Amino acid sequence: METQTKYIFITGGVVSSLGKGIISASIGKLLQARGYAVTIQKFDPYINIDPGTLNPYEHGECYVTMDGMETDLDLGHYERFTDIHTTRHNSITTGRIYKTVIDRERRGDYLGKTIQVVPHITDEIKRRMLREDEPDKQLDFVITEVGGTIGDIESAPFMEAIRQLRWQLGRNAVNVHLTYVPYLKAAEEMKTKPTQHSVKELQGMGIQPDILVLRTERHLDDAMRMKVASFCNVDLDCVILSEDKPSIYEVPVSMMAQGLDTAILRKTGRPIGDISMQSWLDFLDKQHHATREIHIGLVGKYDLQDAYKSIRESLNLAGVYNNVKAMLHFINSEQISKENVAEQLQGMDGIVICPGFGQRGIEGKILTAEYTRTHDIPTFGICLGMQMMVIEFARNVLGYADANSREMDEQTSHNVIDMMEEQKAITDKGGTMRLGAYECELREDSLVYEMYGRKKTIMERHRHRYEFNNAYKEDYESHGMKCVGINPAADLVEIVEIPCHQWYIGTQFHPEYLSTVLHPHPLFMSFCKACIR
Ligand code: GLN
Repeated sequence: METQTKYIFITGGVVSSLGKGIISASIGKLLQARGYAVTIQKFDPYINIDPGTLNPYEHGECYVTMDGMETDLDLGHYERFTDIHTTRHNSITTGRIYKTVIDRERRGDYLGKTIQVVPHITDEIKRRMLREDEPDKQLDFVITEVGGTIGDIESAPFMEAIRQLRWQLGRNAVNVHLTYVPYLKAAEEMKTKPTQHSVKELQGMGIQPDILVLRTERHLDDAMRMKVASFCNVDLDCVILSEDKPSIYEVPVSMMAQGLDTAILRKTGRPIGDISMQSWLDFLDKQHHATREIHIGLVGKYDLQDAYKSIRESLNLAGVYNNVKAMLHFINSEQISKENVAEQLQGMDGIVICPGFGQRGIEGKILTAEYTRTHDIPTFGICLGMQMMVIEFARNVLGYADANSREMDEQTSHNVIDMMEEQKAITDKGGTMRLGAYECELREDSLVYEMYGRKKTIMERHRHRYEFNNAYKEDYESHGMKCVGINPAADLVEIVEIPCHQWYIGTQFHPEYLSTVLHPHPLFMSFCKACIR
């Protein structure tokens, strides 16, 4: 097959959580820094159509693309590293593959044929790996990360698709395989056997890796690398180490220093040329020097790092650009009570009230909003967090003691947060919320207008079913909570602020999805500034 586009397949072996997403994002970053047009996509072997219906405990945060797809959190890494907006074509699951094939079968497209994993499922995987739904996009490299670990039953069709594509595409395709090299304390040795086994397994599926990235906690000497190279049929300079780094943002630089990007270019026959990583290096330099700490409390219900991944990264990045190290503290909203709220929030320079769904933990969020409002502590409410700020204000300032969201209490007489009109007829849960980017007009006399650099209209991404109830707008405005961001098409309140406070802002949208390493989000930037004060 003659093609300009080159395809990079990233697979993983031995164990999960090796940081395939970070390696994929790093490769994307480096190729982009060499002037190539890239995209990074993730194929997940689970059966859900998308991770939107998954509990964050199962799968971490659900990342939302501009075009409103609920996706894997690795897409957040891809965007933060490369500043390239992903789309619904960048996140594929086994569920979506099967659904497409089954829908086609019902339409009669395969009339008379038996539908099988090979070739029908694998053909659909290949079609998507080649991005045939986006034929006009001129891309130099398509990086495809496959979730799961080699040997998993459910990833077998993806491996078969990669095998076929490598055969078809020849040197236009490469496989980068990640493995783990454990350290055995008793023997005081690094062990490469699991890597050898993992590569054997891959070879058994007909895939010879071109490049190995070895995840290690300790340095691997050249003799060990040589051993891996010769056992696995891989060039020595294609055995790359991925050692633990204090920050994930150092990974691209470490990969560059070891020539991961140049190895890919050499293997695919693309010119190497110059690389421009200066702004990235400047960021790292800032990060090294940002040692003064600020403390930010994340009030939420998921005690899991990955559950608020993009919020955490947005705060880290904004901290660096403000020359501070943002120390993030998870505060379980279920454990916050009227009696202990002061103690729970003690020592925090600022509070983020996190997004979420359902009743659990909301009263703690409301108590938090009250405490930070009455003590003028910088507070950022995101999505459900904003809704809790609004409810708190209704209960304690407007005097509606039973104020609530329709999501939590269908009977409340003061539904200050209500279900959106277009949501009322919807019964399906998956992919049916208000999702993706919508316009928001900023009021010129607001704080957020200044924060956004006096932009009249912004675009931000959404993921919610409920909204601010406009029937109460006047009431809020006259009591000091201003509705300063409005979606013009549907007249929905997107941002509230209390201007006489240091920083008390709630957004119905998720600004964390637009924060990147080279472009920290203006609201997070301003929030960090307030926390420093
Ligand atoms: N549960 C709320 C809603 O659906 C908020 C969602 C969120 O925080 N992402 O409107």
